[in-house]
Amino acid sequence: MRVRFAPSPTGQLHVGNARTALFNWLFARGQNGVFVLRIEDTDPQRSQAEFERQLLEDIRWLGLDWDEGPDIGGAAGPYRQSERGELYRKYAQELLEKGDAYHCFCTPEELEAERKTALAEGRRPGYSGKCRALSVDEVTQRMQSGQPAAVRLRIPQGELAFDDMVHGRKRFASDTQGDFVLLRSEGLPTYNFAVVVDDHLMKIAHVIRGDDHISNTPRQIALYQALGWTPPRFAHLSTILGPDRTRLSKRHGGTSVDYFRELGLLPEAMTNYLALLGWSAADGVSEIFPRRELTAQFSFSNITKSPAVFDTQKLFWLNRHYMKESPREELVERALPVLRKAGFVDAETSPEAKQWLRGVLDAVLKNLNHLSELPAHVRFIFHYESGAALAAEENRAVAESEAARQVVAALVRRVGDADKLDSETFRKIMGEVKKETAQKGKNLFHPIRVALTGQTSGPELDKLIPVFEQGSKLPLPCPVKSSLQRLKEFQQAVLKSSP
Ligand code: GLU
Repeated sequence: MRVRFAPSPTGQLHVGNARTALFNWLFARGQNGVFVLRIEDTDPQRSQAEFERQLLEDIRWLGLDWDEGPDIGGAAGPYRQSERGELYRKYAQELLEKGDAYHCFCTPEELEAERKTALAEGRRPGYSGKCRALSVDEVTQRMQSGQPAAVRLRIPQGELAFDDMVHGRKRFASDTQGDFVLLRSEGLPTYNFAVVVDDHLMKIAHVIRGDDHISNTPRQIALYQALGWTPPRFAHLSTILGPDRTRLSKRHGGTSVDYFRELGLLPEAMTNYLALLGWSAADGVSEIFPRRELTAQFSFSNITKSPAVFDTQKLFWLNRHYMKESPREELVERALPVLRKAGFVDAETSPEAKQWLRGVLDAVLKNLNHLSELPAHVRFIFHYESGAALAAEENRAVAESEAARQVVAALVRRVGDADKLDSETFRKIMGEVKKETAQKGKNLFHPIRVALTGQTSGPELDKLIPVFEQGSKLPLPCPVKSSLQRLKEFQQAVLKSSP
């Protein structure tokens, strides 16, 4: 059982195409099949090697490995259409010889004029068949005189139909298709031609792709018939819509895999979310599917044909789940590039600093959608400015009351006296401060939070205390201040601002 993913290297990997890649991969892995990667670069103007490199990197990042492809080869290669020109010419020749294809000398201008006339007369535009009946002599003579000629398929009258695994039976009258071009005059194959030759020669059993290709399929069926080949089974996956229920596109914001990767999303979250676009679990409710379970559960019977709406918030929700589940040392490694870019850690991060970062992540993780939000959420750990802490109106209001000063003063004394400060000691000290000052709840915690972090909200304090303590002992490019340092600086700033 062989399937393929066949992207065109004309841009970044769109989430819709990533979903196609994933479904093919899941199908292959679930059936002990072979997953082929083929690059459809027949358009030399739009195809770029750099896009191909990025596509491969993005598919690899998603964790989808292929068994045959342009980089690793395989028995059915080459796997770039630009390297398969001879094969396309061979089959075009075969069709010409059988009379199932013919040369067409119509110029782009003539074709455009035909199209306009058809539209003006309210007819469906399509090739008129003008060159269908040229005599052999005429063709030879025109070819010899150097007139450029395309090759078109001669589509017979009748019906072109196929059973789609998602959409059921699809029927098309063949005269709605027109005699389409197989080889352009410069010798390059069209998509419909190359795809059929390749899918056949690569022994693809199931073609799983986006439903924007449904309208191409009757033409491909016509080609299978003309070449005497058995068509593969087709499964056209539902359209992906944006929140406004129009086809998902760049207008809706980030829609490439690269965009979400740059945001620091975990690949597991991405593939889990992509799987939910058009597929649902057998129980109809479960939504969390780590890779292993997805492979085990995926089946075509639970694929829906109604369009799926791309919901970034749900993707982020899954990402929060996978970040929470992720082993901390792995998450630290993923977070390092973001923290380095923000200048919070060195390029060579020491094992001690990495260990400490686990605690940092633990403290702030709950509030993050993805890792690129990390710098904003940890800034107060690395840059504590008592003056700035008071500059914000809301902080001053919290901190300047007599009760607040007393709370901070009581805390400073005890923290100063403690031999070590960890979460447990901190909790104990807070109990004592509460008793001494007779403040509780918000009146107790709010001033302390502002004093320690310079913010009125944020992670739990007893998670932060060890972060401050341990961080202050590490050589970091942005030295972390200890709790005591923070508290003392804060007291002075309060004194200065309202002596
Ligand atoms: N190169 C085509 C695309 O990217 C592939 C279509 C197909 O799978 O047949 O849309």
